[in-house]
Amino acid sequence: MSLAFRPKSFFKPSSEAELSKYLKQFGERAKIIAGGTGIYEIAHRGLLSDVEALVDISGLNLSYIESSSDVTRIGGATTMSALYQSKQIADRKELSAVLDSLKSIQPLQVKNVATIAGAICTALPFFDLPVALLSIGSRVRIGPTGAIKNLSDFVKGYFSVDLDQGEFVKEIEIPVGNKNTASAFQKFALTHDDWALINCGVSVSLDRGREISDSAIVFGGGVGEKAVRAKSIEKSLIGTRIDESKIKEIFDKEISKDLEPISDIRSSAKYRLHLAKVVGRRTFLEALGRIK
Ligand SMILES: Cc1cc2nc3c(=O)[nH]c(=O)nc-3n(C[C@H](O)[C@H](O)[C@H](O)COP(=O)(O)OP(=O)(O)OC[C@H]3O[C@@H](n4cnc5c(N)ncnc54)[C@H](O)[C@@H]3O)c2cc1C
Repeated sequence: MSLAFRPKSFFKPSSEAELSKYLKQFGERAKIIAGGTGIYEIAHRGLLSDVEALVDISGLNLSYIESSSDVTRIGGATTMSALYQSKQIADRKELSAVLDSLKSIQPLQVKNVATIAGAICTALPFFDLPVALLSIGSRVRIGPTGAIKNLSDFVKGYFSVDLDQGEFVKEIEIPVGNKNTASAFQKFALTHDDWALINCGVSVSLDRGREISDSAIVFGGGVGEKAVRAKSIEKSLIGTRIDESKIKEIFDKEISKDLEPISDIRSSAKYRLHLAKVVGRRTFLEALGRIK
C-alpha cells in the first residue's frame, strides 16, 4: 500500500455553503487546506494517503479580527502574522498570552501563512498558540451552523477535533476580561525552533483587595494527548496575595496532582514535571506583573 499524498481533486469554494457541500460530498477523504504548513508536515510522514480532495478556503471571507465590548472575534483563516500585528490584540493585556505564543513560533515564513484554525485543527498538544488560546477561555464558532463550543472540548486528542461532516471552523471567540485580568505564555524547548518540552498559558485576575480571584493555567508540550488544565494549582491559588514564595510553594506542591507528563526521545517525564513547575510559576508571575 502506498502512503503517498496524491489528492485527485482541488476545490476553491466561494461561499461557506459550497465549502460545506464539498466537505459532505467527500467526508473523511476531504481536507480543508488553509496555510498548508500542518498538512505538509503530516502528509510527508505518510499520514494523509487517504485524502482525495483538498478544499482551499482562501476564497472565503474568513480572515478578520473584530472587537466589541464583550468579545474579540478572529476569523478562522486569519494568519499568525496578521494576529501578531493586530493592534486589537496588542492593546489588551488579557490577550498578551497570544502575542507571547506567536513570538515563540518559528520561522516567520510559517507565521505568514499558518492560520489560527489550522493551528487548532491540527490538534497536537505541543503546539503553542492553542495553549495560549485555551488559557484565555477561547470558544470556537462552527460553520455553517454557527454553533459554539469551548476550545477545551473542541480539541479531543491527537489529530482529532469535534467537527461533524460538512463542518469547519468559522471563527475563534475570546471573551473580554476585566481590567484586573492579564495573561502570559512561555515555552521551554531544547532549541530555539524545536517543539515545546513544556509550554504554559496563564490568565489571572485579582480582586479589589489585590488577592487572586481566578486563574486558568494550561500546560502543553509532552503532557499527553491534549493540553492539560492545572486545576489543583488554580484552586490553591485563590485568595493568595502576590507573594512569590507562596506561589512557588503551591506550584511545587500541587504540580504532580495536575500533570502526568510523558517520557520520549526529548526528555524524561521527571524532567518535564520539574520544567512544568518552573515554567508554570514564571508564566504565572509574568501574567500577574502585567496587571497594574
Ligand atoms: C517549519 C515549521 C515550524 C513550525 N514551528 C512551530 C512552532 O514553533 N510552534 C507551533 O506551535 N507550531 C509550529 N508549527 C506548526 C504550525 O503552527 C502549524 O502547521 C499551523 O498552525 C497550521 O496552520 P495552517 O493554516 O498551515 O493549517 P493547514 O496545514 O492548512 O491545516 C492543518 C489542519 O487544520 C485543518 N483546518 C485548517 N483550517 C481549518 C478550518 N477553518 N476548519 C477546519 N479545519 C481546518 C486542515 O484540514 C488540516 O487538518 C510549525 C510548522 C512548520 C511547517
